This record gives sequence, structure tokens and C-alpha cells, in this order.
Amino acid sequence: MNEFLPFSKPTIDEVTIAAVAEVLRSGWITSGPKVLEFEKQLSAYFGGRPVRTFNSGTCTMEIALRIAGIGSGDEVITTPISWVATANVILEVGAKPVFADIDPVTRNIDLDKVEAAITTKTRAIIPVYLAGNPVDMDKLYAIAKKYNLRIIEDAAQAIGSTWKGRAIGSFGDFVSFSFQANKNITTSEGGCLVLNNNEEVMLAEKYRLQGVTRSGWDGIEVDVLGGKYNMTDIAAAIGLGQFSKLNDITIKRRKLARHYFAILGNGFEKHTGAQLPVENFENSNWHLFQVVLPDRISRADFMSKMKDRKIGVGFHYAPIHLFKMYRALGFKEGMFPIAERVGRQIVSLPMFYSMNEGDVEHTCEAMLEVLR
Ligand SMILES: *Cc1c(COP(=O)(O)O)cnc(C)c1O
Repeated sequence: MNEFLPFSKPTIDEVTIAAVAEVLRSGWITSGPKVLEFEKQLSAYFGGRPVRTFNSGTCTMEIALRIAGIGSGDEVITTPISWVATANVILEVGAKPVFADIDPVTRNIDLDKVEAAITTKTRAIIPVYLAGNPVDMDKLYAIAKKYNLRIIEDAAQAIGSTWKGRAIGSFGDFVSFSFQANKNITTSEGGCLVLNNNEEVMLAEKYRLQGVTRSGWDGIEVDVLGGKYNMTDIAAAIGLGQFSKLNDITIKRRKLARHYFAILGNGFEKHTGAQLPVENFENSNWHLFQVVLPDRISRADFMSKMKDRKIGVGFHYAPIHLFKMYRALGFKEGMFPIAERVGRQIVSLPMFYSMNEGDVEHTCEAMLEVLR
């Protein structure tokens, strides 16, 4: 009997485990030298842009919105197909979420629909790079410039992804990454935010820790409302170990994705009515390998039959605008039909660093059996 194959699984090597043990024995287990080192290495990777770490890839976006001064009376445009965090942060700062439907091929927000949704109240756009596949970055920043909007890139899934050879995060406006357990690199929970200048860094540090500014030995002042969002050295030690493997991880995921395409590329869509992801090997880090099932198949049924075959399947994501809390704000079925269909039928197949090509083959065989 083969073992259960989950859709995602972190790989933490022994060197990293030893580094965590060292932090635990050191007498300093909260934010300290490991956090500073992790921020320094991240900043170097993002072309020298300032970076600060946090305890999630959610508070990073909330803080970016606060730094941008976005709040009550402002509108922020985002996609309905993301983890609910992406829209929740807009509500968290008191602004109004506005959704734009997705592109059925990339499953990312449709930038033409973003442009159509812009009003005099629009202050920012939060694009999401689903599965690690970025939107058209040239077009995104052309829109930002034309309408004078801030961009908070929800690049939670996109560490290691690129655009025209440049790392996502190494250019643009605010860029938010998550290091949650399932992401390509993890700190168990955590995130980082790429910023533009020292003034933003100062604000990010304040919002990260109760709005506190320190000066001298005993000077302490509070002039904004901050939260408790700092990363620990324990998490940063995991992050440093993971980050040193980023390139390997991305290469391995691309290899696994190529293997999915090699097996499924020929006739799979035609024979099953299912839809493969965009074959983007230039930009995507292949955080997820997602297939949209044909309407004749019930996703719950598919997931349960795959589980019977010892294969874990995830779904990313249910459309945000159809959650109760968002319906209560006036959103309803039919508003974003592409997102609604994709949100109903999308599945994430196993994709993680320690998988092998045999696991891909086994998954494809099981899926073909279930879809037949
Ligand atoms: C993981 C994720 C988040 C949230 O990150 P956390 O670190 O779990 O807070 C937000 N947006 C997207 C698209 C994600 O995948």
C-alpha cells in the first residue's frame, strides 16, 4: 500500500532544525538577531529594497494599507478568488472592498475589469498572484500610474516568481509575501512586506509593535495605533534555512509542473472537459498546480474519490464575495460569474518540494480514473 499523498507538505531540513534548537537554547527566542539577518537576506534578494518581517502574510497587507493612509470612505479593488484574508484586510482598515472578476485562463484578476471598476474613491488595488503566477505587471503599474493608485501586491504565493527576469518583490509598490506552512518557503507562520523608503519602514515598525517608537535608553512614545505583529527568532531561523533553498525549491516545482503537463497535456482537456493551468514556465514558481473540473463533476465527489485513492486535493479558493459576511455587504451570486464557476470547480493537485515524478504519475492516473 502506498502512503497518503497530501496536496502540500513542508520540508524542513536537519540544518534548519538544528538552527531552531540553537535559538531555543540561546536565551533569546522572540524578535532578535535572526529576524534582522532574515530581513537583510530578503532585502538583498529583492534588489536592496527595504523589507520587514511579520507574523503573517495578512497583517503585512493591513499594515501596507495603513501606511498608505487608506481607510474609511476609500475603495480598494481586489479579486474574489483568493484566501479571504485579501479582502478582510480592506474591511479591517475601514475601507470598502470592490471586486473585479477574474480572467478564466490565468484565474487572476482581469486588469481590464479592474480599470472599469475604478471610481473617484478608488485608492488602491490588491492583485493576487494565484498559484504564484503574476498578473501582467506592466499593465498593472500602467493602471496605477494613470489613476494615481497604490498597489499592495498580494504575492503571498509568489516568492521565487519573476516578471521579465526580475524577482517579484524586487520592483513595484508594496509587495506582501506569506511564509505560512503551505507556502513555497515557510517560517511555520509569518510574512514579509517589501517597502519603498525609510519613512514607510518607520511606519511599518510602529504598526508592527503597538505604535511604539523608542529613543535612547528609556525614551518611548506612542503616536499611532499599532498591533502585535512581530516575527520571532524561532520563526526567522526556519525562514533562513528555507530561504537558502528557494532556488532548489522553485526548480523542483517547475520540474513537477512540467511532468504534470507531459502526462496531461496531450488530450486531457479534450477528453475530460477539465482545464489545466496556464503553461507559464517563465514567471511562475508553481506554488499550486490547479485544474478546473468540468461542470458535470461534483468537486466534493472528486475530492472524496481522490482521497479514497490516497491523494489529497485542496481547493483554492471559494469566491470571497459569496461568504455570509460579504453577502451582508450587498454582494451576491451572478456578480462575478467567472470567479463563481472557477471557485466552484477548481482543485489543487499535490505539489510540494519532496514529491517525486512517480507521485505526479500516480495522481494523474487516479484523476483520469475519477474523471472518466
Ligand atoms: C497564504 C495567503 C494569504 C495569507 O497569508 P497568512 O500568512 O496565512 O496570513 C493571503 N493571500 C493569499 C493569496 C495567500 O495564499
